[in-house]
Amino acid sequence: MAKERRALIMLFGGTGDLATRKLYPALFNLYEKGNIRDHFAVLGTSRAELSDDEFKAMVTKSVAKESNDKKMIQDFVSHFAYVAHDVTDVKHYSVLREKADELDKKYEINGNRVFYISMAPNFFGTVAQNLKTQHLLTDNGEFNRLVIEKPFGRDYKSAKQLNDELSAAFDENQIFRIDHYLGKEMIQNIEAIRFGNTIFEALWNNRYIDNIQITLAEDLGVEERAGYYDNSGALRDMVQNHIMQIVSLLAMEQPVAFKDVDIRSEKVKALRSLRVYDVIEASSNFVRGQYGESPDGKTKPYREEDDVPADSNTETFVAGKLLFDNYRWSGTPFYIRTGKKLAGKFTRVDVVFKKPLVDIFAFPQSGSTPLNDNVLTIFVEPNQGFSLRVNAKNNEQGFHTEPVDLSYMEDQKDVPQPYERLIHDVLKGDGTNFSSWPEVASAWKFVDQIRQVWDIQQPNFPNYIPGTMGPVAADELLARDNRQWVYRINQ
Ligand code: NAD
Repeated sequence: MAKERRALIMLFGGTGDLATRKLYPALFNLYEKGNIRDHFAVLGTSRAELSDDEFKAMVTKSVAKESNDKKMIQDFVSHFAYVAHDVTDVKHYSVLREKADELDKKYEINGNRVFYISMAPNFFGTVAQNLKTQHLLTDNGEFNRLVIEKPFGRDYKSAKQLNDELSAAFDENQIFRIDHYLGKEMIQNIEAIRFGNTIFEALWNNRYIDNIQITLAEDLGVEERAGYYDNSGALRDMVQNHIMQIVSLLAMEQPVAFKDVDIRSEKVKALRSLRVYDVIEASSNFVRGQYGESPDGKTKPYREEDDVPADSNTETFVAGKLLFDNYRWSGTPFYIRTGKKLAGKFTRVDVVFKKPLVDIFAFPQSGSTPLNDNVLTIFVEPNQGFSLRVNAKNNEQGFHTEPVDLSYMEDQKDVPQPYERLIHDVLKGDGTNFSSWPEVASAWKFVDQIRQVWDIQQPNFPNYIPGTMGPVAADELLARDNRQWVYRINQ
């Protein structure tokens, strides 16, 4: 039986793309399961002049595909209200406050508040500060929590400034920085796989793991987000947040307990032992790419996309080698890559184990092929599950080994979507799957070094063909170390 949470959710950017595509369906799923039911309200706000009814119609439309139960949808939407409001207009916050107090009373919410800012990041600090100074935070409830969307800054300096603004109004334990990758089933499963299985955790170090590979591939280009993307690039958009979070979960030590404070403290420790590169290391250990035209001419080059300058040097692909200077990982690289217009849309982690020190089957007289690497692959999306590649004897005459995949795939239909999990965590006050400020700060410090080098060096763009796995240099990055990507096309 789901535990019902009491909360007033004040949603800034209530008419936006994220709210309508992800947040309302997520809230509806929580309602359907009973995690929110009688004692919740959503106060939507944005600049758009809408009546309560128009807003409710918008929410109804956005959750329509979640259920055939019209009555349930109607009941859910009856908890929604709307106030048109310009967040930069300080005086107008009193209207929000009055409406919030009214809803609080009506639904007996007892002062619990979640402020969700789903707007362009330049508003995050302003809204947080106005909430505090205009007295929208309650003191009679169990909590006031602030949820912040990405991006959190565009370098360490701007992130620090934003954090200072937020910290002036909210304590760190009240701030929930969304990284929706942390809401994904198999990313959360990394901890279960590692710490729930002696067979992995005992080997989870540089003695037995040769390298770890993380791939976040997209087959789409920039679509309508070109304006934002061209200012950001793959390094800021994907590496600083999602990839660094995944890296820290894979690299951290075992937390004292499965609690947010303990997990966060281990993730921060791991990130602090990540080697921050100097100029020479940054240019040799990181590769950037930008897609050109496809050979059949059907995909135009990045530089010809709408809203992208014809001389843009923004990277649509990044690959890199990360090194930890600590006892567990020294000498075991983490290779990462992400990009647009790649061979498919998928996210996976490949943990490549070392081969046995002696391959007794490799003697010529055995006629056997060399042993394959043992690889634990965590499939994050679109399929969710994992597989373990082991060497086994095949059933032919003689003695020949071949790789066998032991695999487990989850039943997709039962898996909650990331935003549903994350909003539920916010309501519970569980910060495990959110990025803490020290993590964000360490990740920016690492990424800033790469960015600085790239900003002074002229790239040779475009340098990869749409539908491939990025530039040749990304393969060379591993070939240089006598390694290769586990996932390759044409393998
Ligand atoms: P959007 O442009 O679709 O929506 C922005 C909202 O802010 C609108 O409701 C608009 O009316 C409101 N707004 C703008 N200026 C305002 C003002 N001065 N006062 C009051 N309201 C104002 O943006 P989005 O795509 O929904 O993105 C919201 C946030 O979520 C951003 O931080 C974005 O980076 C993040 N995000 C979005 C997605 C996505 O899929 N859309 C994915 C991940 C993260």
